Amino acid sequence: MEKKNIDWGNIGFGYIPTDYRYVSYFKNGAWDEGQLTTDSNIVLNECAGVLQYAQTVFEGLKAYTTEDGHIVTFRPDLNADRLEQSAQRLEMPVFPKDRFIEAVNQVVAANEAFVPPYGSGATLYIRPYMFGSNPVIGVKPADEYQFRILTTPVGPYFKGGAKPITIKVSDFDRAAPHGTGHIKAGLNYAMSLHAIVTAHKEGFDENMYLDPATRTKVEETGGANFLFVTKDGKVVTPKSTSILPSITRRSLVYVAKEYLGLEAEEREVTLAEVADMAECGLCGTAAVISPVGKIVDHGKEICLPSGMQEMGPITKKLYETLTGIQMGRIEAPKGWIHVIK
Ligand SMILES: *Cc1c(COP(=O)(O)O)cnc(C)c1O
Repeated sequence: MEKKNIDWGNIGFGYIPTDYRYVSYFKNGAWDEGQLTTDSNIVLNECAGVLQYAQTVFEGLKAYTTEDGHIVTFRPDLNADRLEQSAQRLEMPVFPKDRFIEAVNQVVAANEAFVPPYGSGATLYIRPYMFGSNPVIGVKPADEYQFRILTTPVGPYFKGGAKPITIKVSDFDRAAPHGTGHIKAGLNYAMSLHAIVTAHKEGFDENMYLDPATRTKVEETGGANFLFVTKDGKVVTPKSTSILPSITRRSLVYVAKEYLGLEAEEREVTLAEVADMAECGLCGTAAVISPVGKIVDHGKEICLPSGMQEMGPITKKLYETLTGIQMGRIEAPKGWIHVIK
């Protein structure tokens, strides 16, 4: 298979259309058989549920070329499970897990020429999504849906090394205590845009959101979970029912315990105790871990001892171990690596 003529090391995180995308239609209570299409446009009625009431959920995962030349995805079963939970919360039909995994296989295989080669640092980003498509004007769930998967090659997240970022404690809330923070719904991102644009204008890279009920506990950023390392080398991740359960974060906690022999726990983390942490990182599919060097709480600076030059030592070990597993350099736990071809 000849690869497309793309400068893999220098593409960013943007939309580059590939040759094929997947679509399945839900109508009269059932999903059709689904198919690949070359058409990147969607024609919708002006009153479609997604346009009027934001009935849409999504997922994000990547296809990698491993050291020995296979094309693989990382724990796609967990993306299928999470999409199911997201769909149920927004009263949408579930796209079956086995079909989800098969559709990811199909669309990645069809776009093999866009899967970046091993060692380029680039990957093929996979975006499954679902939305209500028929006209809805009184507020209620749609009757018809589309499940789609688009793919786009994305460049290395860190060009020339991972530089720690500076984040601010946001004055906005990301999720209500019994709301939709735990599902991957477009609506959570729409309402985060003002907060992130504000943070960027003030010179920060990201927002740290606190729990909206008490504003004393760490939740997450707009699109990544927190991971902290204590001064005695323990990995700690915040526990909350309004955090999106990151697959990367759950995998890193496993890696910390089973590969690195570290203690790791998921528990409530107060903002007050962040000042005592040794390292901090943001976990998600896009970057795996992005190191945080400084957290600013209304003018008060919390400088992580790991500094602004490089990842902290434990964060770095976690990053290298998990990316090693994803790229096939380190043996994976059973079921983590899904070989497409
Ligand atoms: C997608 C997402 C994450 C990261 O989840 P991964 O499964 O690791 O990619 C974290 N927080 C939010 C709000 C997200 O939407």
